[in-house]
Amino acid sequence: MKRAILMTGDRPTGQMHLGHYVGSLKNRFAMQKDYRCFFMIADYQALTTHSDRSSDLEGYIREMVLDYLAAGFDPERSVCFLQSQVPQLAELTAIFGNLVTLPRLMRNPTIKQEIEEMGVNKRPTFGFVGYPVSQAADIVLFRPECVPMGEDQRPHMELAQEVAARFNGIYGEVFPIPEGVYGERMVGTDGRRKMSKSYGNAISLTDAPEVVEAKVGGMVTDPGRVRRSVPGRPELCSVFAYYRAFAAEQEDAVAADCRAAAVGCTDCKAGLAGVLNTFLEPFQERRAEFEKQPGLVRDILNLGGSTARIEGQRTLEQVKEVMGLRYESLLG
Ligand code: ATP
Ligand code: MG
Repeated sequence: MKRAILMTGDRPTGQMHLGHYVGSLKNRFAMQKDYRCFFMIADYQALTTHSDRSSDLEGYIREMVLDYLAAGFDPERSVCFLQSQVPQLAELTAIFGNLVTLPRLMRNPTIKQEIEEMGVNKRPTFGFVGYPVSQAADIVLFRPECVPMGEDQRPHMELAQEVAARFNGIYGEVFPIPEGVYGERMVGTDGRRKMSKSYGNAISLTDAPEVVEAKVGGMVTDPGRVRRSVPGRPELCSVFAYYRAFAAEQEDAVAADCRAAAVGCTDCKAGLAGVLNTFLEPFQERRAEFEKQPGLVRDILNLGGSTARIEGQRTLEQVKEVMGLRYESLLG
């Protein structure tokens, strides 16, 4: 029986973090048994914020494939490739760019927030404002049914669905309309924003135990708990959010101890650092084993790239066919 298709991806802009694990990696690799999966490392999309650091991408990509492997990516079952290995993605982006208006792009709340984060000294480029169009092409080229992603990606998913439906309506049914499957959002160590590679508020999957301890030690807890003796409000505490995600079995006890002021924030944080390091240790051991295998990352990407190109070309031919862009009388 033909397996349904799953598509998702990440930007190679830094170390993968706990937010990626909770919000995305855990679920997507569990789905490999039921879906034919395409995992794309979005190197061109990384340029929309990292064009001045393009030579860093190679290292980040290698790290990312190792993180995937340690988190459960199965190269025998699934495809992992780079966006730049599939030129059909750029071709579809060129076509989709004409199906979205500029005001529609500027209304995207994730884009608005990311522009705000850039600060006043940086102005958004054409590539940056347009990345959701390129992402729409990334999402639909492989004609997936299922697209797991974080909540911050919801506006991009909605745009992809709109563009695909518009294309189908104008030219003919080529794209099934994919569904987004949204993972949990993990707050950063600053307690203010989502954990992100770009905000300096992330605990990386490769952080050493003492780094984890230091980062957890600096986390923001309930601002109202000014002294050890003041009862805390776990629902306002980012440390508690991490217990919930990584030690659900301790959740009730931790909340009760906090509300009763039975345990102070320092001890509570020390407990959390222990929980996280216990989680990260086997992950990092698996990763170290994969790292020792010469040529593993290269083989995965070369094979993945050629599979993705073949699939991408198949869709692109249909796109050109329904649009009348095959030009058989001129080129055939
Ligand atoms: P950058 O800061 O470079 O944008 P990022 O940390 O936001 O990096 P992405 O590569 O943009 O990571 O996101 C990859 C996937 O992980 C997306 O589906 C995104 O929604 C999800 N994701 C990222 N951060 C979190 C988070 N804190 N919690 C849950 N999911 C997340
Ligand atoms: Mg991001």
